Amino acid sequence: MAPPIAKRFGELLGKDVQLANDVIGDEVANQVASMKAGDVLLLENVRFYSEEEENDPDFAKNLASLGDVYVNDAFGTAHRAHASTEGVSHYLPSYAGFLIEKEVKFMAPLLSAPEKPFVAIIGGSKVSSKISVLESLVRTCDTIVIGGGMAYTFLAVQGHTIGKSLVEDEYKDVASSFLAKAKEKGVQVILPVDHLCGAQFKEDTEAISVDATDIPENLIGMDIGPKTISMIVDVVTKAKSVVWNGPMGVFEFDAFAEGTLTVAKALAESEATSVVGGGDSVAAINKFNLADKISHVSTGGGASLEFLEGKVLPGIKALEK
Ligand code: ADP
Ligand code: MG
Repeated sequence: MAPPIAKRFGELLGKDVQLANDVIGDEVANQVASMKAGDVLLLENVRFYSEEEENDPDFAKNLASLGDVYVNDAFGTAHRAHASTEGVSHYLPSYAGFLIEKEVKFMAPLLSAPEKPFVAIIGGSKVSSKISVLESLVRTCDTIVIGGGMAYTFLAVQGHTIGKSLVEDEYKDVASSFLAKAKEKGVQVILPVDHLCGAQFKEDTEAISVDATDIPENLIGMDIGPKTISMIVDVVTKAKSVVWNGPMGVFEFDAFAEGTLTVAKALAESEATSVVGGGDSVAAINKFNLADKISHVSTGGGASLEFLEGKVLPGIKALEK
């Protein structure tokens, strides 16, 4: 029986896909030499070789020797300079596949000339992992919504009580200067004004509504509340482009999924160009079955985050020569 990937690939292509036992070497070279026009040969997993992640030039040259043209369509690994994503491009004419083309087509304008109003919705657990994307998007957006666990560090620097919510004390200065920068640029920042809390960080903890920005000392903020949700729905409805990265609450727990679900629905219903990136946000969109109503659901978790941070992705740069 053909291995699952070759089998599925063959079904999608409508033709047999042969599988090689290796990535480089004589046996593979012979298989390639005996291929006819239109044949498809799938190599073994390149990561079985440590040379792949080391971006070893000889390994890349060996890979390149198997073909005439290199097409990269792996957006999800484009932020890594590996032999099969970057190295190989030094030895062959190199092009982007349709997926990479689509990813760039939807995300690049957000950093240069987004359709306005442009709303960025950033959530997830940590300020530390999202501050670069905030600092990148604040250059082009009109409104930034900060939700999820990272919002409490921002609320704390504004002098609010946050109970036992997630907080990164070492990022308070960064959060504070971000807020100052947004203000200076005239970018509207929306932080939670009400919450759904729990006494313990557990799936079956009772959901307690807190109808105020301040959270009582014994509670943990686990989702945004209804007032915050309607503020977000309002800005999304008026937007021409929206990017969303990071859940608004602990959406894995059903009782705390409402904020994330409603934001996802607002994006799905909006006329705006909507882009969703990030592993957990995309998982949320899929969990709610809304992916086909979003203009673009990025296939790269780390790669889409780095793209939105304005970083040069080596796997894409390699194709720009
Ligand atoms: P993404 O993968 O979309 O970039 P992150 O990895 O940054 O998102 O964050 C996702 C995680 O953040 C989820 O597991 C979610 O449970 C968690 N999270 C969201 N809100 C909170 C909160 N209020 N407290 C703790 N964790 C939260
Ligand atoms: Mg994640």
